[in-house]
Amino acid sequence: MSRMKEAINDKATIHYRTCPLCEATCGLEIHTLEGEVVHIQGDKLDPLSRGYICPKGYSIKELHSDPDRIRTPMIRHGADWKEVSWEEAFSEIEKGLIPIIQEYGRNAVATYLGNPNVHNLGGLIYAPIFLRALGSRNIFSASTMDQIPKQLSSELLFGSDAYIPIPDIDHTHFLLIIGANPLSSNGSLMTAPNMRKRLNELKSRGGKLIVIDPVRTLTAKLADEHYFIRPGSDGRVFHS
Ligand code: SF4
Repeated sequence: MSRMKEAINDKATIHYRTCPLCEATCGLEIHTLEGEVVHIQGDKLDPLSRGYICPKGYSIKELHSDPDRIRTPMIRHGADWKEVSWEEAFSEIEKGLIPIIQEYGRNAVATYLGNPNVHNLGGLIYAPIFLRALGSRNIFSASTMDQIPKQLSSELLFGSDAYIPIPDIDHTHFLLIIGANPLSSNGSLMTAPNMRKRLNELKSRGGKLIVIDPVRTLTAKLADEHYFIRPGSDGRVFHS
């Protein structure tokens, strides 16, 4: 760290937070000075991430201070966008939404919930209430795009779509990965930050990592063995 940064950080206030950008939930140390974020680093004392953060975690500083970040509701008039108050925004929504529901029914309205909703307390609490009030069956989200078969199988097998079994990555001795690339997804549902380190630890304690994937992914490159599946012949597995 440069002398300049040391001087800034001496006066900075440190906020300990959890990165909201993915399920790895890394611990962040956010340094602020007079309301500005001046530095972000991993929290070494976080028991889960142990100081690790990925480039997205560092970029929260840029995201926070981006002049194009949307800070108030906006209404589009043709090609122009106008900043408005929440009252104006809600009244515009009411004006547009209610006639559609009255004329075409509740299923005429679809919603799409982005990934950050599950990392935001307000989103977690109020999104289900809003969706129930809306009453549409057309609800889409990062989950429906990404992993709904996984959630359905968990519901059918274990009684809840939230009961998703995950490997005990830090203690297993044999990890078979089929069609997943945790080095890119940062472990995602496994909530296991610094996947490269965890997989290397598995190998160095004598464990074995096998990947079955038609693509030579980052994880496949790290594996002890990578088996391709030839498209159209999934029953036959070919050694790399
Ligand atoms: S892996 Fe990156 S994006 Fe995900 S929680 Fe950690 S720092 Fe944030």
